Amino acid sequence: MPPPRTLIITGASRGIGAAIALKAAYSEYQIVVNYAKDQEAADQVVEQIRKSGGNAIPIRADVSVESEVIALFQEAENRFGPIHGLVNNAGITGGFARVDETTRPMLERLMAVNVIGPILCLREAVKRMSTRYGHSGGSIVNISSLAARTGGAGEWVHYAATKGAIDTLTIGLAREVANEGIRVNAVSPGLVETDLHAAAGAPDRPARLSSTIPMKRPGTADEIAAGVLWLLSPEASYVTGTILEIGGGR
Ligand code: NAP
Repeated sequence: MPPPRTLIITGASRGIGAAIALKAAYSEYQIVVNYAKDQEAADQVVEQIRKSGGNAIPIRADVSVESEVIALFQEAENRFGPIHGLVNNAGITGGFARVDETTRPMLERLMAVNVIGPILCLREAVKRMSTRYGHSGGSIVNISSLAARTGGAGEWVHYAATKGAIDTLTIGLAREVANEGIRVNAVSPGLVETDLHAAAGAPDRPARLSSTIPMKRPGTADEIAAGVLWLLSPEASYVTGTILEIGGGR
C-alpha cells in the first residue's frame, strides 16, 4: 500500500471544512483539522474521522497570524511527514453592511482572515510541495464563493471582494506552479447551510433566500466537499486554475 498523504484543511472544525475532512477520511489522506477557537468541535471531527478508520489530528492556528500559520505547517510536517494537499477554507463574512456602512477595523479583520491568511497558507504549502524546492508536488483547493461573481450587493460587497481575490489567486498561482507539480483550483459554493449565516447575524438566511436559487434549496456542506475531494484527487490530474461553481444553478 502507498504511504498516506498529508492534507491540511483550514477551518475544519465546522461547516464546509468539517465536511471536507470527514469525506477525506475515506481517501488516501491523513488529515490536519485546523481550527481557530473551538477545540471541542475540532476534537469531535478528529474523533469521527478516527472512528471511520481514517487518521487525523487537530492543530489550532489563526490563519491571519503569520507565526501561527508557519507553526501549523511545521507541526503538520513533524507529526505526519511531507505535505501533499491544502484546502484553504477558513473564512469569515465580516458581517452584513452596505459599503457606506463598513468600518476600517471590520475590513482589516476580514482582509486578514480571508485574503492574507490564505496567501500565507499558499506560501507555506508551495514551499513544502513544489519540485522547485525538491518536493514531489501536491494539490491545493481554495474555497471561494459565488458572491465573487454576484457581488453581494446590499449584504456584503466587502466579503464578496475577498472572494474575488481568492479567484484571482487561484488562477495566478495555478499558472505560477503548473510546471512544479502543483495543481491549484477553487470551489465556489453558493448558499450553503452552515453556522456562517448565524455568525453574521442571520441564521434564517439560507431558508429565506431558497426561492432565489434555481434549485430552490441551499446546498449542503457535503455537496461542496464532493467537489473539493474530486479536485484534490488524481481524477482531476489535468485540471488547474479552475473555479468549480457548486451553487444549484445560481
Ligand atoms: P463556518 O461554519 O462559519 O466555519 C468556519 C470555520 O473557519 C470554522 O472551523 C472556524 O473555526 C474557522 N475559522 C474562522 N476564522 C478562522 C481563522 N482566523 N483561522 C482559522 N480558522 C478560522 O463557515 P462555512 O460556511 O463552513 O465556510 C467555510 C468557507 O466557505 C469560508 O471560506 C466561506 O467564506 C465559504 N463559503 C461559505 C458559504 C456558505 O453559504 N456557508 C458560501 C460560499 C462560500 P472555529 O470553529 O475554531 O472558530
